[in-house]
Parts: sequence; structure tokens; C-alpha cells
Amino acid sequence: MDAAANPFPRVFCIGRNYAAHAREMKSEIPESPVVFTKPSTSIVRPGRIVQYPKHGSSLHHEAEVVVQIGRAGQAHSREDAQAFVGGVGLGLDLTLRDVQADLKQKGLPWEKSKAFDQSALLSEVTAYSKELDLHDIDFSCRVNGDLRQEGNTVDMLFDVERLIVEVSAIWSLLPGDLMYTGTPEGVGPLEVGDRVTVESGILGTWSWEIG
Ligand code: ZN
Repeated sequence: MDAAANPFPRVFCIGRNYAAHAREMKSEIPESPVVFTKPSTSIVRPGRIVQYPKHGSSLHHEAEVVVQIGRAGQAHSREDAQAFVGGVGLGLDLTLRDVQADLKQKGLPWEKSKAFDQSALLSEVTAYSKELDLHDIDFSCRVNGDLRQEGNTVDMLFDVERLIVEVSAIWSLLPGDLMYTGTPEGVGPLEVGDRVTVESGILGTWSWEIG
């Protein structure tokens, strides 16, 4: 990626934002959003081949709704927050689960398991308008056509407005920033040769091949 032309200054990701996924990971339900970041150089647009990383052996798909921030600054209230939503898309927060388990056990940061090259798959982004209900977006993930994950943003523990308020209190937002809003249950492994697809009636259908 040409860094100078990068339209996405930062990639924020929310962990454990769906209760059923937190349970399948045997993680506690958080009391405030779990936030981590990926470098924007980890973004892969649709249609590109994603190379299976060499430093792990359990690459998991996490299908997520992605919010693109449309303006700079901090949202001080839920009412403020909606004005920060510039667009909405779908993405995959690719995770090396074996590496993550090892890092978690040692109490170390997650970057090696979450923030590696090509770990942030990103669809085209649909411009946000009020008709798009952020609290009722159905989405799914298929691998080679088999349904693996199904979710709806109504099940988020912390909704988009709350996430924008909480994240912007710590990182003043910039136009183009992305927020991966968490994954529902059903995460699982990808293998070389697999085709992973994220789909939403509202946001389209987007695929990547694992090479
Ligand atoms: Zn995730």
C-alpha cells in the first residue's frame, strides 16, 4: 500500500462486543469496550489474495461491521456520536488464534496475533445516511459457501454511538478512521485455498481468497 495515499489513518477494533462470542472464547463480558488497533497497512480491499501468515497456524475469521469516521474530533454524547459516522462497511478481523492464546496466557500485547500484514479485510464502504439503522444490520460470513457466522448489530454489547464516545475520549478521531465493531459467535479457522465471504443485504457481498 502507498502510505502517502492511505485514506484510513487508523484502524480501531473492538473485542468481545457480542456476548455469545465472548462466551465461546471463555472471556469475561466486558464492562467497557475492549479496544485494540491495527496499523492501516494491514488493510486488504476485496478481490485481493490474502497470504496465510507464517508466524502462526490457526488463522481465524472474525466477520464484523466496520464504521468509517467522517469527521475530526471527540463525541461527547450519543447524540454527537452519530454525526461522526461517515460510512459503513463489512470486514474481517483476521486473528491468529494460537498466537493470541499464547500471548494472553503470558499477559503480553495482542499485536502479533491481530495486527499483522493483511489482517484487516475491508469491503467497499457505503455512505451513511439516517435510513441506515446502525442497530439493525444483519451480516454473515461464509467459507467456501458454508455459513460460519451470522450476526445482527442489535446484539452488540456496546452500540456504535457508545463506541464512538468511548474511543474518541482517548483517541481524538480523524476522518477516514475505521472502527471494526466486534464479531458474533462462530469464529473458526481458514485454510490456504479457502474463499471467505462477508455479506449483508444492506452492505453487499465481499470475498477474499486465502493464498
Ligand atoms: Zn474482532
